[in-house]
Amino acid sequence: MNIKFDKNYHTHTYRCKHASGDVADYCQAAVESGLSVLGISDHTALPDHRWSNVRMEMEELPGYSSAIDQARIDFPELTIIKGMECEYAAEYVSFYQDTLLGELQFDYLVGAAHYIPVGNSWKSSFGGIESVADLRAYANYLIQSMESGLFAFMAHPDLFGNSYQSWDKEAIAASRDILAAAAALRIPLEINGLGMRRGKVNTPQGKRNPYPWLPFWEMAADYDIEVVINSDAHRPKDIIGNMQEAAEIAEKFKLTSAVLQL
Ligand SMILES: [Zn+2]
Ligand SMILES: [Zn+2]
Repeated sequence: MNIKFDKNYHTHTYRCKHASGDVADYCQAAVESGLSVLGISDHTALPDHRWSNVRMEMEELPGYSSAIDQARIDFPELTIIKGMECEYAAEYVSFYQDTLLGELQFDYLVGAAHYIPVGNSWKSSFGGIESVADLRAYANYLIQSMESGLFAFMAHPDLFGNSYQSWDKEAIAASRDILAAAAALRIPLEINGLGMRRGKVNTPQGKRNPYPWLPFWEMAADYDIEVVINSDAHRPKDIIGNMQEAAEIAEKFKLTSAVLQL
């Protein structure tokens, strides 16, 4: 199967401290790979410096923004969209809404549940969704993020599959809640290529990708949702990494691709 795709809305830069390359390197790779639309969506800076080990500093924000502005001049053949990948929290709403989307004129924000609120603290979603309580916290947080209305789409909604091992009745219930919310709120969900580059997880049912988790997407077909296929590139050479396989998942389960108006 060879499915055509020419848009990728999820890429990073060296500023997040776990990616390589700058905006221009991703744009060059995008042109060489035949993309016509490229969204740059690095991990957002945060005013309170929370999780600063995996994101840019506030001082890097102007440089990030101007690197995208410059790329728009240098790569006229590419439509370049200015974005950020963001974790929802009530205290960040004004920064996201007024500063990023407002003052700095970002085109879009991607919502992602890399951390979940558990009790009075945050827990990493990577390796941290071990119990039913964690899974519920993940689903509720993802839904709350969608309800904020801040995000153009949600990155890897099935991220919990990296550490919640079994597709059991709890996984089904959490997934149904996420999918129902996405349908009701009209928020597209991302089938994420990076999950297929992370190495398999061992589960009682055998080895599988941490995400995309196939039964989640099979169930997504029951809902009136739309999907976005992205690479989540953290290296320029991964600019279209695993987008073919992600597109095949959408095709297999007859999921509708979203047309983003950004
Ligand atoms: Zn990242
Ligand atoms: Zn990302």
